[in-house]
Amino acid sequence: MSWSFEAPLRDMRFVLGHVLDAPAAWAACPAHAELDLDTACAVLEQGARFAAEQLQPLNGPGDRQGCNLDADGRVRTPDGFADAYRAFVEAGWPALAGDPRWGGQGLPLLLDGFLREMLDACNHAWNMYPDLLHGAVHTLAAHAGDELQQRYLPRLVSGEWLAAMALTEPQAGSDLGLLRTRAEPQADGSVRVSGSKIFISGGEHDLSDNIVHLVLCRLPDAAPGTRGLSLALVPRLLPDGSRNAMVCDGLEKKMGLKASATCAMRYEQATGWLVGEPGRGLAAMFVMMNSARLHVALQGLGHAEMAAQNALRYALERRQSRLPGPRAADAGAADPIARHPAMRHVLLGLQAQVEAGRVIAARAALALDLAEHHPDPAVRDAAQARAALLTPLLKAQLTRLGFEGASAALQVFGGYGYVHEYGIEQSVRDARIAMIYEGTNEIQAIDLVQRKLLGDSGTALQALLAECAAEADACLAEPSLEAFGQALREECEAARSGLHALLGLRDPGLVLALAPDVMDALWWLLNTWAFAASARGTLRASDTDAAWREARLERMRYGVDWLLPRARQHWQRVIAGAPALPELRATR
Ligand SMILES: Cc1cc2nc3c(=O)[nH]c(=O)nc-3n(C[C@H](O)[C@H](O)[C@H](O)COP(=O)(O)OP(=O)(O)OC[C@H]3O[C@@H](n4cnc5c(N)ncnc54)[C@H](O)[C@@H]3O)c2cc1C
Repeated sequence: MSWSFEAPLRDMRFVLGHVLDAPAAWAACPAHAELDLDTACAVLEQGARFAAEQLQPLNGPGDRQGCNLDADGRVRTPDGFADAYRAFVEAGWPALAGDPRWGGQGLPLLLDGFLREMLDACNHAWNMYPDLLHGAVHTLAAHAGDELQQRYLPRLVSGEWLAAMALTEPQAGSDLGLLRTRAEPQADGSVRVSGSKIFISGGEHDLSDNIVHLVLCRLPDAAPGTRGLSLALVPRLLPDGSRNAMVCDGLEKKMGLKASATCAMRYEQATGWLVGEPGRGLAAMFVMMNSARLHVALQGLGHAEMAAQNALRYALERRQSRLPGPRAADAGAADPIARHPAMRHVLLGLQAQVEAGRVIAARAALALDLAEHHPDPAVRDAAQARAALLTPLLKAQLTRLGFEGASAALQVFGGYGYVHEYGIEQSVRDARIAMIYEGTNEIQAIDLVQRKLLGDSGTALQALLAECAAEADACLAEPSLEAFGQALREECEAARSGLHALLGLRDPGLVLALAPDVMDALWWLLNTWAFAASARGTLRASDTDAAWREARLERMRYGVDWLLPRARQHWQRVIAGAPALPELRATR
């Protein structure tokens, strides 16, 4: 039985129609007012077909072949990757959620998010190439001058040209304040960029003629640290068609994602142009990084979905050991492993978390759409704050789920999971990086606590808690959903006490020591909200068959009954006070 993909289109339609009521939100935004649920789902169906037919067959071969660097510094991607990208551009997928001003189709980011989940599920390495387009476009749209926008945005929106994000240097990883790449201003308004970057995804490849690098760098009189950083656009091809002075010195040999070119780049007085004000480069780069963080979260979700559905298919077929108790005459010598309680825990846990994760990710994408397009400024501001709060949670938690889910699925496959043939071991290897890049998951926890909770004195979290409390009340009003309402109400109360305790902490070291607990606690609050909102959605979903609704309800119940209790310890540490965290000593 080999690794295969069945797009979760039914679940996506359910989330759009019955959990988030996305059509009502679209109707409130003039840019999306014409969109209806059937049209949205028809777009997703086409996207699913592209992912399953064009990308999934390239996933295993791409992993085995990897990328190659020629003697002339050109990178060759695995066979079929460039053709698939050409088909992707011709079908208009890169422009799906692009601004119509620059040639985009102007559809919601919510649909774009579901599309990305499917692309990542089928071929994470391939999707690394177009994944940075959206962030680059947003950064240029928000910060670049008119001339740069006119020159680059239409061709990035269409996907004719691709983008790369060049931050990391050997001595500057999580701490970008340490980076050294220089930019010297020229009389004609351009800059000359010199320095070395490492780990640059898609810095060089054969999918597009031009690659637009957004490079973090320092001007000559820049202040030290992050305040002194500027952002430069450095294209592989200059406007006159000649090659810019930048070379790929090497490709990293990696644990996974072998078909994604991870490049060591050298800029030797390369021509570029500043994006945004000098010294404000990190603020501009954050536009790209925030978009990229949500996309990385969707990589995790794609891996987890793929793991859940392949593990289930295998577990229904594979028979080992007889279960105790009476047996049907035709039961055979052994039962499917899907019936053994230990495997049921793994599979139900994965399914419940994937479905809840999809709801939470979709809620964040909807918030981004509202932040961009809702006519009421107060709604736009609240939606922006909601998306900002959810971003580090989604990035860290869905990437963890992607890796742990793939590993759990490998366990379901037993020894067959460990051999190449079944595909699951590639998923474990590919999924692992998402916990590291785009700001490690430890950095996400710090961002969550310092910026998103303490930074606004808990205002964005209070707004989220109000929404969760309303969901709890709605469930409590429905007798069959009382357990969901009760669980969500308890989570809200714990979060209120936890936030109060957090805001009262005076020791910044203790705040950092508790950051992972706060991250986990809030993720379980969000999961409980997603379980409850999904359970209530199943009561409204008369357009789906009863067996499907009951199965989904059971998975949500499993989440509340079995998964949630394990998560309750996290607020306790924040509320009751944590023991001192010892310093590490070099001697043991
Ligand atoms: C396949 C791949 C693709 C990549 N693509 C890109 C790309 O396109 N563009 C780009 O610019 N970079 C890219 N990167 C680089 C990636 O973003 C960095 O690896 C990442 O930011 C971490 O930096 P580092 O590796 O130097 O680790 P370090 O920063 O040295 O961190 C090491 C460990 O220490 C922890 N740590 C560090 N600081 C703190 C702190 N303050 N508090 C708590 N813990 C901390 C980290 O969480 C981590 O666990 C890529 C990397 C890989 C492997």
